[in-house]
Amino acid sequence: MNALVVEPGHAGSACITDVSIREEGVPVRVLEVGVCGTDREITHGLFGVAPDGEDRLVLGHEMIGVVERDGHGFARGDLVTATVRRSCGRCPACAQGSPDGCLTGDYLERGITRLHGFARELVGEDPAQLVAVPFELREIGVLVEPAADCVRALRHASAIGGRLPREVRRALVTGAGTIGTIVTCLLRLDGVEVVTASLEPSSPVVEATGAEYVATTRLSELGRFDLVVECAGDAHLTAAALRLLDRSGVACILGIDGRDQTVPVDGRTLGVDFVLENRVLFGSVNARRGDWDAAVSTLDSVRRRWPGALESLVALRVPLDRFDEALAFRGGKAALVLSE
Ligand SMILES: [Zn+2]
Ligand SMILES: [Zn+2]
Repeated sequence: MNALVVEPGHAGSACITDVSIREEGVPVRVLEVGVCGTDREITHGLFGVAPDGEDRLVLGHEMIGVVERDGHGFARGDLVTATVRRSCGRCPACAQGSPDGCLTGDYLERGITRLHGFARELVGEDPAQLVAVPFELREIGVLVEPAADCVRALRHASAIGGRLPREVRRALVTGAGTIGTIVTCLLRLDGVEVVTASLEPSSPVVEATGAEYVATTRLSELGRFDLVVECAGDAHLTAAALRLLDRSGVACILGIDGRDQTVPVDGRTLGVDFVLENRVLFGSVNARRGDWDAAVSTLDSVRRRWPGALESLVALRVPLDRFDEALAFRGGKAALVLSE
């Protein structure tokens, strides 16, 4: 079958090729695979590891598909997605069902690290890693993976913030790409007043949720926030946001910024305000099983609350052989269509 493969570490090696991969479990016919910055980095040779003993990796970790055959608690025709990160098999976090907090770093990740991804026609998947998706979410199925990461980040922010009596009334989200938009939706769903800051001139989806949309150049005029979520992948924005935290404020970094650079941080903010005001900065990656289930139900709530908003976020659909267009696309989520 055709698959989108790369040679990890080799920029420009992405191509469509015929692969044969033997996998046990539930046969899933892939409908669509979303692409994101991680896929872009892998195709640029900056990231990604092939499965042991192989030199190529099938890309794709944001999948929506259909179960091909009854069994393992699933029925033919069921809509499903699948988790990305899998247990290292030997650490307490993985043993407790939280490979998102793996302590060894020897985890596997579909389409990223030592495990073939979903950008191919057929996948055999471990039933324990499959996540049922209602048919109403078919059009936005590729958003479940990024949404699970957002749900996880906000769960951690509330666990960390929850060590003190406090309320999250006002939040700043930097970045209005897929992640920033989903985080904005989740916070608005919870009734939080949200300011979303981005370089882009406007975002109809963000505005539909009632969040205030501002240019990142205006950060210093926005007052203080109980929660900041950095989704733009810009370490300068993280540094700037540290000054905007209110008492007991929590800042979460979700966007990756791999540039080799030095970022200026205000000394008194870090040396005084962070101490005297109990502020926290933390990073978040990936998601555990419960976050995936929560992501499905939360996306459904967002879809009901703001009909059409998330659907418009999946802004480009192209067949597998036009993967270059999907990887270059910046106007929302791009998806590769593998079957109808
Ligand atoms: Zn992704
Ligand atoms: Zn582990």
